[in-house]
Amino acid sequence: MKCVIKGVHQVPMGFANAFLIEGDDGLTLIDAGYPDREAAVFGAIRGLGRSANQLKQLIFTHGHPDHIGSAAAIVRQTGARTYMHPLDITMAESGGPFRPLTPAPGLLRQILCNLFFHPNERLDPVAIDQPLTDGELLPFAGGIEVIHSPGHCAGQVALLWRPGRMLFAGDVCMNVMGLGDPLGFESLKDGRASQRKLASLPFDAVGFGHGKPIARDASTRFRHKWGNPDIQISSASDATHRTAAA
Ligand SMILES: [Zn+2]
Ligand SMILES: [Zn+2]
Repeated sequence: MKCVIKGVHQVPMGFANAFLIEGDDGLTLIDAGYPDREAAVFGAIRGLGRSANQLKQLIFTHGHPDHIGSAAAIVRQTGARTYMHPLDITMAESGGPFRPLTPAPGLLRQILCNLFFHPNERLDPVAIDQPLTDGELLPFAGGIEVIHSPGHCAGQVALLWRPGRMLFAGDVCMNVMGLGDPLGFESLKDGRASQRKLASLPFDAVGFGHGKPIARDASTRFRHKWGNPDIQISSASDATHRTAAA
């Protein structure tokens, strides 16, 4: 378990991340990793000096196997309420099969997508207590905003934890060998639109379903990659650095 920013902890669950948010009202888990990884979540909860029944919410960024894999086991031991976008609920509640993906552009992602994503996989189904709606503000941990961001997956959402200005991007993008595309898309066109949408949001930190979180100045990197450079703010400090280096 690693602390990303104050109040947010990264829980590695195979080649996928989950995140624990500490609130006055209990713990919130974002995503549930690959199957048989629940011990990582319980270890992280203990590491915070908390007990399993203090995990109150489990919010899924989307319904893929590497994000719901350990969910059933976690819910059994914690009783956490589960949240997911309606377009992915059928996959989670049936435990597969999963809608197919087309690999993202580039050889590396094509290889990894075929290696890691198996639409016919079957796993422990998890019941969803509450569907998520685009634009809603979940009243946990001081406020978590839901941003529907389809493309990689029709029910993909990003989650913005307002008190810490941290974005949970799920698989809208990843940070494996640099900030870039996820392994695959259901719709590349929708996926690009969602990446641009995230690049317009106000945040400092970002956590990904795959790869290293970014703790500071993350929205600048998103704008460089996917945003409109004309609306880019910050740069006073960059300019100072350049002057100092020169
Ligand atoms: Zn995914
Ligand atoms: Zn994933």
